[in-house]
Amino acid sequence: MIDFELSENIQNMKNMVHMLAENMMRPVARQFDEEEHKEKPWDFINMMWEDSKRRSKARIESQKKPKEGKPERPAENSITFANIIEELSWGDCGLYLNMPGGLGVAAVEAVGTPEQKERFLKRFQEGAPKWGAMAITEANAGSDTAAITATATRDGDEWVLNGEKIFVTSGKSAVVDSEGFVVVWATIDKSAGRAGIKSFIVEHGTPGMTVTKLERKLGIRASDTCTIVFEDCRIPFDNILGSPEVQKKGSTSGFKGVMATFDATRPMVAASALGIGRAAIDFVREELANRGITIRYGISPYRMTSVERDIQQMEANLQAARLLTWRACWMMDQRLRNNLEASMAKAKAGLAVTLVTQKAVELMGPLGYSRDLLLEKWMRDAKINDLFEGTGQINMLIVARRILDYSRDQLK
Ligand SMILES: Cc1cc2nc3c(=O)[nH]c(=O)nc-3n(C[C@H](O)[C@H](O)[C@H](O)COP(=O)(O)OP(=O)(O)OC[C@H]3O[C@@H](n4cnc5c(N)ncnc54)[C@H](O)[C@@H]3O)c2cc1C
Repeated sequence: MIDFELSENIQNMKNMVHMLAENMMRPVARQFDEEEHKEKPWDFINMMWEDSKRRSKARIESQKKPKEGKPERPAENSITFANIIEELSWGDCGLYLNMPGGLGVAAVEAVGTPEQKERFLKRFQEGAPKWGAMAITEANAGSDTAAITATATRDGDEWVLNGEKIFVTSGKSAVVDSEGFVVVWATIDKSAGRAGIKSFIVEHGTPGMTVTKLERKLGIRASDTCTIVFEDCRIPFDNILGSPEVQKKGSTSGFKGVMATFDATRPMVAASALGIGRAAIDFVREELANRGITIRYGISPYRMTSVERDIQQMEANLQAARLLTWRACWMMDQRLRNNLEASMAKAKAGLAVTLVTQKAVELMGPLGYSRDLLLEKWMRDAKINDLFEGTGQINMLIVARRILDYSRDQLK
């Protein structure tokens, strides 16, 4: 059964990361938001890189069998990571998204063969900071990933990629700023629909892969988001993640493998949402306390002030999202399929943080609207959690399909 008490290990880690968030992230959060694209937050990146190298080694070790004679420690990698992400996003979500590693790494971890994990992930244990981005979205294929038009054509021992990917988080970091890679979704057989879509690893510096645009954004402005064009971009045949076989028309089993990445990453997006939401609530509570207003818990709803009701609703929403997130992570740690729970956590947390930060701005009046404080920034940053890795609507659709046992065609 899931234990709702965090282990001592996680609690210690959480406390340590909180200190880092408070002392290293908060003081520069405004600067990197205002100076979008001017420079990378190298102090933060270098510090996180040291931890990330250690964590990468630990993850690979944890996938091996426990050594004989040694007691097996409870698996808690995902839940630990979710708690770290919550704290970092409490510090600043845009800076947190600069952390080396990234979605491309999660994809290789989720669906790569042992040989691919060794070949592509070893670099995350040594040398200078590196990023692995994930390029799925196209101008006409976001929620509807099956509409992807980028192609991968086999030519002897190589694949040749063509197409344009937009809104790639840390794309420039992976392609230009480091010896990273991009995981690219492309179709190898358009006539096969979803079954023809596969993911491919394209190394930094591969001819034919070019960053063509950096996005200017509403929020998470410290994080780079870019367009990448693939033009006759040749990669080795075994850079395909999963099987190169195309299942028969209508089959989605190959595509499900590709989608498995989201089961690992959606709970982490939810954890990030929790951090921003908590930052906003902490701030409002502190401001109210400074004005001599304390929130009375446990009193009759008839006697509550409207501020007390608002705050308690904000807290309850965030806590409900946290429990869903921890459950999705716990299932991942137990190697249970968490597709439904990952979408539940993401849908709930994305919506909760959007509403919580809006309400926080509202409660604080002009203080909430001022750029002297970070509250307005948190409201801008919050919305992304309801957008990337599947919008709120799409994740709710997945939940509805799974609960009602409807197919994709029955419930669109
Ligand atoms: C800052 C940022 C970073 C990003 N990072 C990445 C990244 O690293 N890699 C990557 O591949 N992509 C990334 N994206 C893209 C993101 O994942 C997509 O924007 C998102 O999936 C939505 O797809 P779309 O833009 O095509 O919107 P659309 O699919 O066109 O959706 C528009 C609206 O319609 C709604 N909608 C669509 N279909 C349905 C339906 N069937 N039922 C109900 N409502 C529906 C959506 O919920 C949304 O509200 C990023 C986006 C942003 C803004």
